[in-house]
Amino acid sequence: MLEVRSLTARYGAVPAVRGADLELAPGELVALVGANSAGKTTLLRSIMGLHGDRVGRIVVDGTDVSHSTAVGAARAGVAIVPQGRRLFHSLSVEEHFGLASGRRRGGPISVADVLEFFPGLARRRSVRAQALSGGEQQMLAIARAVLVGPKYVLMDEPTEGLAPFVVESVTRLIEHLPSLGIGVLVSDHGDGDLAARATRMYVMDRGAVAPHVAAGASAALVLDIQEGAVQ
Ligand code: ATP
Repeated sequence: MLEVRSLTARYGAVPAVRGADLELAPGELVALVGANSAGKTTLLRSIMGLHGDRVGRIVVDGTDVSHSTAVGAARAGVAIVPQGRRLFHSLSVEEHFGLASGRRRGGPISVADVLEFFPGLARRRSVRAQALSGGEQQMLAIARAVLVGPKYVLMDEPTEGLAPFVVESVTRLIEHLPSLGIGVLVSDHGDGDLAARATRMYVMDRGAVAPHVAAGASAALVLDIQEGAVQ
């Protein structure tokens, strides 16, 4: 279980995440839904140890990573697909696979498995990341995260700005991961498919994470919650 308790994260004096509580179990697909600037990116980066200015408790399968860097969170079994992808621009697709596989901590997914979901990447293995399309870059960022063999994957708006056929491939892989026992926390604006497919959903508003809502809640309901119309 990945557990987050009373997590507050700031930029200078300004809190972007305010006392957030959430849980992610192995094999769950959980959505973190919120409008622009709600604090989703900051929360995911804080869990991963990429945002240092944070207080609260983060425990991964019994290991306390509240004060860890990203290396500590990764060792505990967490991976992130960050906004902006953060690929190595001069490295090829194949070299990204090699780096991720070199850091592999076991786990059920191989390069061949990933390429079944992303056949377009198979044809681009020798191409540098900087020459890939946005959709291909996003597929590579997701592939890199899952090839490390994480128990929990944090994905920051993974389908944002992608062409519909790429959204479909990415969504299929995201939905497959829980069947392998991997817990997936995916941030989203709530207007796409992903939130509706999640097992559970948290709604984030101005830094606060509301208690979770049942699976399949519609985007309209989420918006109502954000506007305070539904408790
Ligand atoms: P989006 O859906 O637009 O990606 P988000 O829900 O991920 O938004 P964050 O990016 O975490 O939200 O931003 C939360 C708050 O923190 C916002 O008010 C934002 O302006 C502020 N913020 C984000 N990054 C910084 C930064 N580097 N310095 C100062 N404030 C920041």
